[in-house]
Amino acid sequence: MTQVNTGPSEPCKAHHEAGHAVIADSLGYKVHLVTIVADGPTNTQGRTEYDDPLERQHERRVEHALTICFAGPAAQDKFASHSLRADDARRDYVKVLDIVSRFRVDDETRWACRLKARELVEEHWEEIEALALRLLDKGTLTFTS
Ligand SMILES: [Zn+2]
Repeated sequence: MTQVNTGPSEPCKAHHEAGHAVIADSLGYKVHLVTIVADGPTNTQGRTEYDDPLERQHERRVEHALTICFAGPAAQDKFASHSLRADDARRDYVKVLDIVSRFRVDDETRWACRLKARELVEEHWEEIEALALRLLDKGTLTFTS
């Protein structure tokens, strides 16, 4: 599974991608790559690749997939609230809508996943900040097993 996002500034984007990556890891999914690359003078592209929860048999795989989607925007918002432009999270929310319709997720579950993402971001904030700093330094991080 790949999360691709476009966004405004590098630090915001680094925290956004670190949010996806750290929360995926915390839920037990292997993270392969996290990257932020400049895309023109004012834009940054971010991407996080991790094992797709939907390919697992885990009974909570759909919740996990949604929670990881929400974790990027949640981390970006915690880092700099109001930094999240519609564009930043569009791909995340398109993916959420796709999962919601494919698996007939009810509103209550969807909201619970959004809240869970915020809780996990709070709980893992130090790791998210540390990863974001490494990402700002290196641009791309790969994790081999
Ligand atoms: Zn994202």
